[in-house]
Amino acid sequence: MTEAAILSGHDQSRADIAQWTCPHGQHAGNGCVTCYRAAGEADPALPLWDVAVWFTSVKPIPIRALHDVHRHDRQFAIDQPSTPLVYLLSGQARAAVGAEAVAGVVGFLVQNQHIVDEFVVTEIRAVRS
Ligand SMILES: [Zn+2]
Repeated sequence: MTEAAILSGHDQSRADIAQWTCPHGQHAGNGCVTCYRAAGEADPALPLWDVAVWFTSVKPIPIRALHDVHRHDRQFAIDQPSTPLVYLLSGQARAAVGAEAVAGVVGFLVQNQHIVDEFVVTEIRAVRS
């Protein structure tokens, strides 16, 4: 099962927005620190999601900060595709629904503002692994 959304900011239907709202009422693209923390101690019976989040950063992220991401406990990674200031955050999360998994992964960015302080998520994808 794959759930994906391109977040262009203005052409989302209400249904899309509902689909990508986490259990705490946050849009997955904005991230949710509660989901991030919950995923750290999620019930192993919950589905595991492969999450990919594309975002733009206002400022370039130093290479060192990108490497530091790997040192965090959850094997998240931030890669830089060819476009300047566009980044791909990928990782796995256990959650009942894709929106919660994505909100938790984006919550990592919210929680770690030393990596990226201002960002806009443009596309999200969650695939049950
Ligand atoms: Zn949440």
